[in-house]
Amino acid sequence: MNKSTTGITFDPIFLKHDQTGHPENAKRLESIIRRLKEKGLLDKVIQLKSRPADIDEITICHAKEYIKYLKEFCEKGGGYLDPDTYSNKNSFIAASIAVGSSVDLTKDVIEGQLKNGFALLRPPGHHALANRSMGFCLFGNIAIAAKLSLTQSGIKKVAIVDFDVHHGNGTQALVGDDPNILFISTHQYPFYPGTGSIREIGQGVAEGTIVNIPLQAGVGDKGFKLAYEKIVIPSLERFKPDLILVSAGYDAHWDDPLANLSLSLTGYNWISRELIYSAERICGGKIVFFLEGGYNLEVLSNGVANTIRGLLGIKSFDDPLGKPNDDEPNIDKVINELIKIHSL
Ligand SMILES: [Zn+2]
Repeated sequence: MNKSTTGITFDPIFLKHDQTGHPENAKRLESIIRRLKEKGLLDKVIQLKSRPADIDEITICHAKEYIKYLKEFCEKGGGYLDPDTYSNKNSFIAASIAVGSSVDLTKDVIEGQLKNGFALLRPPGHHALANRSMGFCLFGNIAIAAKLSLTQSGIKKVAIVDFDVHHGNGTQALVGDDPNILFISTHQYPFYPGTGSIREIGQGVAEGTIVNIPLQAGVGDKGFKLAYEKIVIPSLERFKPDLILVSAGYDAHWDDPLANLSLSLTGYNWISRELIYSAERICGGKIVFFLEGGYNLEVLSNGVANTIRGLLGIKSFDDPLGKPNDDEPNIDKVINELIKIHSL
């Protein structure tokens, strides 16, 4: 492998976890792969060989009974696991390969075989809980990768940054009690799944390792820039992780059909690059993005392509949709409160 290169995961089985008419469908990943090809980016990255996760890897975050239940349920043809979350006969194996492959990608970045990475996977993971599926998610891909990273030599602390429009309640629940994992989330609030208030900061030895930045509807590029400059980046600088993982959801865009934040693709590009620069300053560039949400295919495919350009060190990016028309609400109050709560 080429250690100056970006790695990606992808497996055709991810396209077989699918349900027509559901926003989290196979067209999402198809549109991303098509865009990467069209922009000449697929030739510039290394696609890892994929593999299913061992049960031992998944149980670092999930209950054995849940894994067994999910496997048997899918083998029988699947069905709805919660009001939002479907499964079919391919879903368990897709979810298992999503975990196994993203764990390998993270390991290659830690060991320096790859410079950085983007786990292109489905089903997404940041709402999955220890004993049940939730919000389109079956296994907590990023939480599992973070916990397993801590068993690797040289990795004492990991930071997870979640810029999906929804609060990563699953990730918070799975890693929130670990003082060696910092979890930072920006999300629309109040909104699905209901968690992610400013006061959820972790407990006991893990107090302060959860940083929730709840944002009201309409917050866009300006608000995110403030949140990153005042809260996200200073929190990363202070925690000094050995690895940064990113829950990359592109549903905080103004034209996403499911939510109401107002980032542009230009704003998303800025965020991704700030995280990549932070990793370069703090942890030798070790950063892996994990695909979460994003339901406007034009936004999603361009957003991922721009992030991969950032990982490859290519300066250009595309924003064919431009900025939203409306002005943004001011978020000084929530930022000042967060500075106090987290002594930043
Ligand atoms: Zn989302």
